[in-house]
Amino acid sequence: MSIPSFDLSNKVALVTGGSKGIGLGMAEALGQYGATVAINGRNPKDGEEAIKSLQEQGIEARFFQADVTSESEVTNMVEQVVEAFGRIDVLVNNAGMNIRKPLIETEEDDWDRVVGTNLKGVFLIGKAVAKQMVKQKSGKMINISSILGTIGRPNQTSYAASKGGINQLTKVWASELAPHGINVNALGPAYIKTPMTEDYLSDPEVLKGITDSTLVGRVGTLDDLVGPVVFLASDTCSYITGQTIYVDGGWTAK
Ligand code: NDP
Repeated sequence: MSIPSFDLSNKVALVTGGSKGIGLGMAEALGQYGATVAINGRNPKDGEEAIKSLQEQGIEARFFQADVTSESEVTNMVEQVVEAFGRIDVLVNNAGMNIRKPLIETEEDDWDRVVGTNLKGVFLIGKAVAKQMVKQKSGKMINISSILGTIGRPNQTSYAASKGGINQLTKVWASELAPHGINVNALGPAYIKTPMTEDYLSDPEVLKGITDSTLVGRVGTLDDLVGPVVFLASDTCSYITGQTIYVDGGWTAK
């Protein structure tokens, strides 16, 4: 039996939305397992702070500013990452946002912003990075979905639509890219405390509803994503593609 390795040394990972929250947590995880990390976001100040914290842990990391909703910025950024590090072995397609509103209060602009960032952004990044991975004849793509890609909850019209779309893109890209040696999977977390969710989770009633919805009785943490993201990024993940893996304390099994 050959034992494949979780070691990510000599691999380059691009994490969109890697300057904060879940993206920064996953960048740290990949870096701790040896990867060189390119993180992205719009705000350079947050980006530089994140780089400082990654470098303090001995991780080779650089910030690349781009808005994932702009194809020209995305194309430029992917070119810059390849120029800086020579290749992209792992993509964590993570940048995202949410505007929680009931259906009848959701404005066209709310929909455009959420779906534009979470779904069009994931598409544009996936397309630009796929071109590079096809040239390399290898790669691991990890799209960040959510439990809302498969379950319904109130006030999530645009967000759930975008995450359901990500699950479908994951299957389509897995089908197209398998012949090029590229695995495409998604992670679907339940609630994790980050700048995006901290206000929402600070309401004790909301928090209780969420913890009661899981089987393990708690919200998620950044540590809960370390194993799943490192596994999907590593050479150990060669026979899994097109899947969405829910990191949700059992929520979607309930
Ligand atoms: P945060 O708001 O904490 O971080 C979002 C990150 O994305 C930041 O780095 C932000 O940087 C970047 N970003 C947002 N919009 C853009 C854009 N247009 N272009 C480039 N970068 C952008 O969110 P989370 O860490 O909570 O969420 C990260 C991902 O995880 C999202 O896809 C989210 O849907 C998903 N998720 C989160 C869950 C949670 O409970 N937190 C649960 C399930 C899924 P900047 O503002 O500088 O652009």
